[in-house]
Parts: sequence; C-alpha cells; structure tokens
Amino acid sequence: MSLRILAVASEVFPLVKTGGLADVAGALPQALRTKGVEVTTLMPGYPAVLKALQGVEPVSASKDVFGGPARLLRARSAGLDLLALEAPHLYDRPGGPYADASGRDWPDNALRFGALSWVAAQIGLGRTPLPTPQVVHAHDWQAGLAPAYLHYASEERPGTVMTIHNLAFQGRFAPELLGSLRLPPESLQIDGVEYFGGVGFLKAGLRFADRITTVSPTYAREIQQPQAGMGLDGLLRHRSDRLSGILNGIDVGVWNPACDPHLPEPYDSTRLEGKVKAKQALQRRLGLRPDPHALLVGVVSRLSWQKGLDLLLAVLPHMVAKGGQLALLGAGEANLEEGYRRASATWPGSVGCVFGYDEALAHLIQGGSDFILVPSRFEPCGLTQLCALRYGSPPIVTRVGGLADTVIDANDMAQRAGVATGIVARDIDAGALQDAIDRAAAIFFSPADMAVLRGNAMAADVSWNRPAQAYRRLYEKIID
Ligand code: ADP
Repeated sequence: MSLRILAVASEVFPLVKTGGLADVAGALPQALRTKGVEVTTLMPGYPAVLKALQGVEPVSASKDVFGGPARLLRARSAGLDLLALEAPHLYDRPGGPYADASGRDWPDNALRFGALSWVAAQIGLGRTPLPTPQVVHAHDWQAGLAPAYLHYASEERPGTVMTIHNLAFQGRFAPELLGSLRLPPESLQIDGVEYFGGVGFLKAGLRFADRITTVSPTYAREIQQPQAGMGLDGLLRHRSDRLSGILNGIDVGVWNPACDPHLPEPYDSTRLEGKVKAKQALQRRLGLRPDPHALLVGVVSRLSWQKGLDLLLAVLPHMVAKGGQLALLGAGEANLEEGYRRASATWPGSVGCVFGYDEALAHLIQGGSDFILVPSRFEPCGLTQLCALRYGSPPIVTRVGGLADTVIDANDMAQRAGVATGIVARDIDAGALQDAIDRAAAIFFSPADMAVLRGNAMAADVSWNRPAQAYRRLYEKIID
C-alpha cells in the first residue's frame, strides 16, 4: 500500500540549510519513496527557494495568510515534491531563514512559522486542491503548531508526527499572539499550547501529535530527564509511550568519496590513494604543514556551546605540541571564533581555520582528515560523524545522544572483536577529550590498527535505508 505524507520543514537541503534539519528534510523523502511512501514537503518561500524552483505550478492563493496575500506553489526540485509558501510579507527579505544578517531573530518569527504550520493544517484538512495526506509530519518548532491546528480544527483529521531535531530550539512567544496565530482562546492552558506563560510551538506539537520522534534512541531517553529535557522533560515523560528514537541517515549519493566532486580524486575502502591526495589538498588549502605523517583532526561544526568546541581549545596546546594538526570549518559564537582565530595565529602550520559556511570545504575536511572530532555536550543525532564514517575518517566523539548510538569505541575489547568504528571519550571535559585524541593518535601511528578502524568505519551502514523503513512502520501504526 502506498502512503501519502505531508512533511513540514523550515529548511530543506539543497534549497536552504543552516543545519542537520535541512539534510533530513532533503534526504528522507527520497528514501521513503523507495519504501512506497510519497512525501510532499511544505516549506517557506524564502527568496532563495523561489529563485531556485523551476516549473512552478500555483496550487492555490489566499488574500490573507497571517497579514498578507500568499500563494502555494508546487514544483519538483532535487528529487523532491515541494510546496513553497509564497508570502512576501513573511519571507521576502534578505538574511537567513530565522534571523537577519546581524544574527537577530526576525521579530515576527511566530507569524512566519505559525503561517507555515497553519497552511500545513489546511492541506491536512483537505481545504486546498491538493490530495489530503494521511499523515502530517512536523519537523522542529517551526512546524510545531500544525498538530495543534489540526487538533482544534476537526475530529476528521490526518495522523500527526512531531519530530524533534534539537530540543534546544523551542519557539516560545508572547501569549498576546494567540489571536494573530488563529489559535482558540481555550488553547492557552497547560493542556494546550501554553508554555511557561507564552505560546510554545514545540510544546504544542509534543502535546498534540499522535507520535513523537527524535533522531536517536539515546536522545529519546536523555530528553525525558531534567538535565537534557530543557523544560519539556515532564511532558515527554508523560507521553513516553508515544515517543521513540529513529536515527538519521545521510544522503549517500551526496556524501560519497567514490564520486565526490569536492575531492581531488575519488577513493573507496579498496583504493585509498585518493584519501592521501585529499589530505595533501586540505593541508594546502588551510596552510597546514604538508606532512602526510602528522595526525590531522578535522572539525565541521556550528561554533556553539552545544558542540563542545571550547573543550578543544583547551586541548589544542597539547595536541600541537605532539605534532598534531587541526582543520576547522565553523561559524557561530564570536568568542569561539576569536579563540580559534588566535589559535591559528599562534600555531600557523598546525591549526588552520575557516569561518563561515562552505559546503565544498566540508567535504574536503571529511575526506582529508585522519579523524573527525565531534565533542558535543549534547547531540540529538549528529550528521558529521556519519559522514566521517563514510569517508573513512573515524569519528572522535562524546558518549551522548546519537553519537553514542552510531560510533563503537575502539576499546581493547571492541578492537579485539574487530568492530570498533571510532573513539568515544569517557567524559565531557578537556581531560577526557585529550585522552581520546591521544588514543586516536596511538591508533593512527599503528598503520595496521588504523586500517582496521578505517575499514570498519567505511563499512558502517549510514544510509537512510533502515531509518526510512522505521518511519514507514511508524506512519502505518498511526493510520491503523
Ligand atoms: P547541527 O544540525 O546541530 O548543526 P548536525 O551534525 O546534525 O548538527 O548537522 C550539521 C550539518 O551541517 C552537517 O551536514 C555538517 O556537515 C554541516 N555543517 C555544519 N557547519 C558547517 C559549515 N560551517 N560549513 C558547511 N557545512 C557545515
């Protein structure tokens, strides 16, 4: 039986991306198609999206969607069946999807993403010319009101799924916005959309969705505890029978060292010369010492407290003193950028940093590094370590969330059993990180051990095949 799903996401790769959500929204529908699930994806019509779409067909138009006229446009793009919500008063502006060029959140974000969720509900209720989906799948807080609109609209509604990609982003807004958001007055209560006195978008989704998923089994457990629950652990515990973790995959077509246009030469697990070339190219690109024998650790990350990169700054003097090199690509918090800027000025040739967002360099770092470091304090799933496995650059990670679920630590036992795929630090502090990097170095300087670790990493299944199967089963349960 084929299933029809409406996915709702505020960013979709390759049209617009700030993080892992876009990767998932871009890749999951294509994997689901192979399982007999047809996904249509609704996203905001940001300028970059409208510019990129070709062969657009208008589906419907409305004079007033949250304060201005809007059209629903349909197009096929990058293997996706896309619906872009064209609403110039909400989306036609320069800057990012959530914030202006200086990083300040758009003041009308509640309406911008409320409108997205509201339109999703209209499609779900069959109030547009589009076929009615069986399930509306809301991704992150920006789509969180969709299950609430559907709940308050009608008993005759499609099933709903709310997926948490990162609980840290919750979308809480002033209670006075309730009316402009077209939510009924009675919804502003603890059993409704009310969240710490305001309107909680993610809270609403978690309260009303038929099923809640997050992007790894370990994160699904962690967020039910006060420490990682960020205010929502009580609700998540209350709904724990509806909550499950489904690991993300990566698009193994986009992330494939055997045909990656961003690498100087292709490689795979049987022909690794291309990886040596990638290391040379990366060292050249970042002004690092051209030394094939130096341990080169790569980082591709948002620079934020979550990602633990302040810990790496503390470990750098030790790593550099031992001859190690760092290649870092990141953007984010100014103090971290400053720290890494200073480090690369202090140790030119050993520490090379690029600040900003650079898809091509991200691929070169994955290919050219010996190890990829992801020392997160919390990590719902994490995609960089999955790419690292695929590119034969074993990940060094902390034991949290999806990192714990996707990397097998090279301890004695796992090495003897021949199953290790990376290094898992014993704790989240600078000392444990230093030990983890030292353990990586010991393996790196023992070529036979390194070959086994790299081979295991490259053999790991990081595709969307299994996750897509799990999402299909989940949709089936809801529809039954
Ligand atoms: P998060 O969504 O928390 O940022 P994930 O690991 O889930 O972290 O996904 C991050 C994605 O964004 C990965 O595909 C990673 O390669 C990419 N990425 C992060 N920072 C950059 C950057 N500065 N340039 C290019 N790609 C980046």
